[in-house]
Amino acid sequence: MATSNLSSSSSMSSSITQKHTLYRSHHPYPKTLPLSLKPLQNPNSPHHHHHQQQNPHSLSLSFKLSCSKNPISSFFPQDPTPPEPPKDSNFLPESDKPREECGVVGIYGDPEASRLCYLALHALQHRGQEGAGIVTAHENVLLSVTGIGLVSEVFSQSKLDQLPGSSAIGHVRYSTAGASMLKNVQPFVAGCRFGSVAVAHNGNLVNYRALRHNLEDQGSIFNTTSDTEVVLHLIATSKAGCFLQRLVGACEKLEGAYSLVFLTEDKLVAVRDPFGFRPLVMGRRRTNGAVVFASETCALDLIDADYEREVNPGEVVVVDGEGISSLCLLPRRQRKACVFEHIYFALPNSVVFNRSVYQSRRAFGEILATEAPVDCDVVIAVPDSGFVAALGYAEKAGVPFQQGLIRSHYVGRTFIEPSQKIRDFGVKLKLAPVRAVLTGKRVVVVDDSIVRGTTSSKIVRLLKEAGAKEVHMRIASPPIIGSCYYGVDTPSSDELISNRMSVEGIRDFIGSDSIAFLPLKSLREYLGDEAQTFCDACFSRNYPVLPTDSKVKSVGDFVDDGLNGSVDAGWNEASADETPEGGTE
Ligand code: SF4
Repeated sequence: MATSNLSSSSSMSSSITQKHTLYRSHHPYPKTLPLSLKPLQNPNSPHHHHHQQQNPHSLSLSFKLSCSKNPISSFFPQDPTPPEPPKDSNFLPESDKPREECGVVGIYGDPEASRLCYLALHALQHRGQEGAGIVTAHENVLLSVTGIGLVSEVFSQSKLDQLPGSSAIGHVRYSTAGASMLKNVQPFVAGCRFGSVAVAHNGNLVNYRALRHNLEDQGSIFNTTSDTEVVLHLIATSKAGCFLQRLVGACEKLEGAYSLVFLTEDKLVAVRDPFGFRPLVMGRRRTNGAVVFASETCALDLIDADYEREVNPGEVVVVDGEGISSLCLLPRRQRKACVFEHIYFALPNSVVFNRSVYQSRRAFGEILATEAPVDCDVVIAVPDSGFVAALGYAEKAGVPFQQGLIRSHYVGRTFIEPSQKIRDFGVKLKLAPVRAVLTGKRVVVVDDSIVRGTTSSKIVRLLKEAGAKEVHMRIASPPIIGSCYYGVDTPSSDELISNRMSVEGIRDFIGSDSIAFLPLKSLREYLGDEAQTFCDACFSRNYPVLPTDSKVKSVGDFVDDGLNGSVDAGWNEASADETPEGGTE
């Protein structure tokens, strides 16, 4: 049970029950298919009127037939030729970075909710570029548009016109999956016997597999290969009375990282897991007081919303016609916020976990200059993520900061590789060295992190070919030695260069004259008393919560396997060297 504001939740329950009777499922097989996809209403859809005329039995049949393809979007016309997913971007510099899996947004109380959601998703585009979606609540119906690609590719004026309503949730997604991507694009919408609910998730559940097996044993049929879907099944199969009790009960069964936004016909709910791994903030629009939730404050800034506070770890914030109320998930935990948000994922103009990302990165650069000084003529950054730390390094070292690498912003996510491989082609396409800055100089180049090390070696070669006399690599994070289980796409531990080589070995591999990492001890000292409230498991292997399954998800999405429901293809065995060295559990 949650400790909760029961007076507000119980009064909500009666209104939920009343409204949800409008959508009470007439499904003939409620026990075998407790979670059916809602026949989403889209005025422009050729399927819309058709579904309305179907009897419940034929609707269930149509769902069962379509569920192997694209159960959510099959109710909507998609662009006839959706953008191709990136086939292989391994040659791009970004491919050697951990990748955030998602960003979420929620808006309540603004007649322009879907357009604001669209803008906020733009601000969060760096958290996921492979898919985007928005769901709005309008006249007791949930409306949805999802698609593959950037926010600007998925949404058009006409698509947004299909999303009226004063409340909305949105999602941007990163995924490595191929053909399965579209049906895994969030928000997911489900019609349950008590009403409709949509959900968008940032994070990764470490007990997904066990939960899914239990649910399948009880008759649940899964439509996607995403861990997020278990949340909807847990809500749908809950025996609790009102929606909020179902939601709280479901969340209390989840383990791992989850920042979630839910939308029903009359409520917006934001939830953060008890460890608070992933960020989630709350604000209000200056003009009309509309409530906004977002993964980062940069999304609030773009839509003129003032930052109010974080959604606390373990908090359930409910916004509806009666105002805002807050519940608390049990058990309570010490916060373990992802420190990598400050190193790489979040934008520098965001405030994440009550700290300025810009200030953190600048401090990391200053620490590097203090702890790993080297005689040099110029400090440059690997753009864009190394800029702020390089500024900090340069100022502390008293050496000029210059733009020695220019990043092209016009390289698409996909382009045709030349048939004959050109050495360092991808890096050259994205990063161009400035000879006027580099020739004859002793150069310090600052990057935020090294994962496999492949891109770093190309950058060093690029700088030397442009005339740099010496190249000294400075990395504004500790060496990455562990995979992330909490919603960040990192390679398996044996692909991590810092797991395979000593610091001197890495220097030799990338070909630099020297290399230094931000010491973990210094990072913790910088965080001060709050160090214990940050997860740094990818640097320390101190995992706050381990996967309860024998296998763990570590790379991207589960691989879609068609009809048989197995998810094995996307799981990596946890290796022995990933045993925690002193996590809290
Ligand atoms: S393991 Fe690393 S990337 Fe994952 S949550 Fe912890 S600090 Fe963040």
